[in-house]
Amino acid sequence: MDWFNTMLASMLTYCPRWMTRPFAQPYVAGETIEDVLGTIEDIINQGFSATIDILGEHVQTAEESQTVRDKYCRLYEAIENINGDCTISLKLTHLGLDVSENLVLENLSAIVQKAREVSRGITIDMEDSELTDITLNMYKKTVAGFNQTGTVLQAYLFRSLDDLKAIDSPQLKLRICKGIYRESSEIAFQNKDEIRNNFITLVQTLLKGQGTAQIATHDPILMDSLETWIEENQISPDRFEFQVLYGVPMGNKLEKLRDKGWTVRIYVPFGEQWFDYSVRRLKENPQIIGYVLGNFLKN
Ligand SMILES: Cc1cc2nc3c(=O)[nH]c(=O)nc-3n(C[C@H](O)[C@H](O)[C@H](O)COP(=O)(O)OP(=O)(O)OC[C@H]3O[C@@H](n4cnc5c(N)ncnc54)[C@H](O)[C@@H]3O)c2cc1C
Repeated sequence: MDWFNTMLASMLTYCPRWMTRPFAQPYVAGETIEDVLGTIEDIINQGFSATIDILGEHVQTAEESQTVRDKYCRLYEAIENINGDCTISLKLTHLGLDVSENLVLENLSAIVQKAREVSRGITIDMEDSELTDITLNMYKKTVAGFNQTGTVLQAYLFRSLDDLKAIDSPQLKLRICKGIYRESSEIAFQNKDEIRNNFITLVQTLLKGQGTAQIATHDPILMDSLETWIEENQISPDRFEFQVLYGVPMGNKLEKLRDKGWTVRIYVPFGEQWFDYSVRRLKENPQIIGYVLGNFLKN
């Protein structure tokens, strides 16, 4: 089935936008700030939390990165008065990492400043393994001034447990996910069970340590297993939350977690870059084609 997904993903690159839209649409909350605010209101009215991502990555000029910075600042102003828990997630290559580290630091500092003013959190998403060190460094530099900053570790990377131990602190808000990029067997687990086991180890280590765990997965085996462990160990609900991507069908699982009084945060991407983003995602992980077709057939 993998060859079929890979073939479809390659073909979509050459398809017109209208043909790719169905693969992106369920997972993207429109193109404008107004579009995404409507979605966030629905999410919050249902008792969930949200984190918003402006789609895009790997900008190639300082001007583009500054436009992105300004959009993030406007987004913070737009969510200031939302009556609920809403944070922002962003990628360093969207803020100009391909141009220079100083540029990213300048852009990120301006966004963190805005986040402080409106008292809303930030998560720095984790990109491919070549960017792990710089992402963790940027996290350390920005968290020193603002404790509502978080970042991400990927369970497929061998290094993640050491990284976690190195950054653990009471301020740490750490999203744990499996990891979306293709990484070599020299640095990353390739086997599903090994990735799951490392995911569980990372979450348990974090919860036995000092930080807050943001458990980002749709995998029912992982969710059930961590839910049981959290209950058996009577972990306080302010030490963890579950996170899922907008649009992924979850049955009534999210409502069940919410009804226990636990935080469930939905990651909501939006923006004009949905086409490039979707095609890149699909090529990086052709399995998504299978998810979309599978979910489409389930509905
Ligand atoms: C909130 C959140 C934030 C994330 N942030 C990052 C990040 O910063 N860096 C990073 O590398 N990765 C990130 N990811 C992606 C993550 O690393 C995985 O690639 C992705 O979540 C799939 O793994 P899974 O744990 O859901 O398990 P899987 O076993 O891959 O998926 C379980 C089931 O969920 C459904 N599903 C999973 N993903 C999708 C999808 N995209 N579209 C439709 N259905 C899907 C499918 O039905 C699948 O069978 C994030 C994921 C989430 C939920």
